[in-house]
Amino acid sequence: MPRLTLCHERRTTNDAMIKSPRGTRDLLPPDTALWNFVEAAVRDVFRAYNFHEIRTPIFESTELFARGVGEETDIVGKEMFTWEDGERFEDKKLFDTWSKENEDRVFFQEGNPFNSGIKPLGIQRQIWRKATNSVEFVCFRPKISWDVIDALVKARNIARTQYSQEYVNLPIHLRLVVPDMAVKNSPWVKTEDVEVEGFPGNYFSSSQSLTLRPENTAGVVRAYIEHKLWDRGLNKLFYIGPQFRRERPQKGRYRQFYQIGAEVIGPAAAGSQSPARDAEILELLATLLDRVGIANWTLELNSVGCLADRAKFNEALRQALAPVVEKMCADCQRRYVTNPLRIFDCKVPEDQPIIKTLPTINQFLDEDCRTHYEEVKKVLNAVQIPYVENPRLVRGLDYYQKTAFEFTHGALGAQNAILGGGRYDGLSEALGGPAAPGIGFAIGEDRLVLSLSATASAESVVRKPDVYIAPLGDGMNREAARVARELRRHDLVVDLGDESFRLKKSFETAVKIGALYILIVGGNEVAADAFALKHLASGEQVTVPRADLAERILRK
Ligand code: AMP
Repeated sequence: MPRLTLCHERRTTNDAMIKSPRGTRDLLPPDTALWNFVEAAVRDVFRAYNFHEIRTPIFESTELFARGVGEETDIVGKEMFTWEDGERFEDKKLFDTWSKENEDRVFFQEGNPFNSGIKPLGIQRQIWRKATNSVEFVCFRPKISWDVIDALVKARNIARTQYSQEYVNLPIHLRLVVPDMAVKNSPWVKTEDVEVEGFPGNYFSSSQSLTLRPENTAGVVRAYIEHKLWDRGLNKLFYIGPQFRRERPQKGRYRQFYQIGAEVIGPAAAGSQSPARDAEILELLATLLDRVGIANWTLELNSVGCLADRAKFNEALRQALAPVVEKMCADCQRRYVTNPLRIFDCKVPEDQPIIKTLPTINQFLDEDCRTHYEEVKKVLNAVQIPYVENPRLVRGLDYYQKTAFEFTHGALGAQNAILGGGRYDGLSEALGGPAAPGIGFAIGEDRLVLSLSATASAESVVRKPDVYIAPLGDGMNREAARVARELRRHDLVVDLGDESFRLKKSFETAVKIGALYILIVGGNEVAADAFALKHLASGEQVTVPRADLAERILRK
């Protein structure tokens, strides 16, 4: 049984600068204005197509992604942030087991005179050893911490000062019992105060595996099943939010990134399988990119067929790959065994010449998939949405069927996909739900904003202050606050200086923040109930009565 005693030397805190974790970043003003501009435009577009917002949790049970995305995918295989949660420490179990083994030492544990005094300190159990004329306070905890040591020491001090002479003179020992693993993993050192005892055994209840969502389709389909959303017929849902993948960070690729996505899902009878839905989604995306101001996008389109087509295609791929697969990268060799279709996801330059010679899925589509694909293209032609067919385009996730697509943008370089999506007719069943054909997409918002910043600056979408109010002299802060409140009621953007500023400093600040006007609030102005309003660009200055201020500033 490992034992150690602790000393009261605290570990000094490390005061090195704390930075945001690798692969994450802060979005700061004015860039956040560009993000808000994108999100507002996107919400307008979704409204026009009768999509409604859904917000699912940022973490879900790991199994959802294993089943809904596919164990064989890079995302599930390598990139998820997963942890065990809900592990509960069972202090009663530790206490019971420990007491049994220490029967000879335990005389009373309830009703001793110290109970009421130290309970609020979080000492769960006290051992009152009357026979030996000593007392031991014992805590049962999952790990060693200074909090519990402090509480034990405090409990002894209270006991010594607050209780009758009979007890005050008793020796009071302090003991902390933790699972022995906690002692093995602890960097703690010796003390005279508290005896720490590592006790063997497992005192944690079973846990649940949770994962930060690496994508949002699985979560939306989970919610569709959980809330029986099929009762409403066709569901057109969109989301905006962060996703998490443990990827190697580079420009345009982060570990926390943002996606704007949408799903159309429902029973086949509601039209969810129709090629018209695919075309509507693609047309929505073209509108959305145009509205946001992304020029020169390319829509790449393919059909990956149904499961039976894919089985035939995978067989043909295996045959074609058999003689060459050993020359390919390790990932491709694994894909060759598990799911050869994924070889088209390979980005290794040396593998590309081989990939170019492989058969493509379009030769394997059955009648139903071929007609579906043709119909999607016909609707796109009717609404004049340009596309290029890319028979080597496959989507990274399992359960994709028929239509698969990506929108790319030249300005993004290597990570040139702004968004990807496709049809996932079998996903609901794979997650234990009813048949619910669906199609969806996810836009990488980081990349969308990056493409946009090539043409639009954050400055151009920021709303600058209409007026900067300069309180002049003692007691003017409260007058300035009154004026600001009145002006803000008229939806004006107002910023405020401080009565301690000299007028020169107020002017400099007003120019720095890009305000249109500066308004002087001094004693004379308040007395006259009329204020000096200066247009900063032209230098034109007028005196405006309080009642006319908002109207005068709104005229610009
Ligand atoms: P996917 O869910 O992999 O189809 O990704 C959809 C879109 O999300 C991609 O086209 C990218 O624009 C974006 N995306 C995916 N992974 C990342 C990442 N690690 N960092 C930034 N954007 C990403």
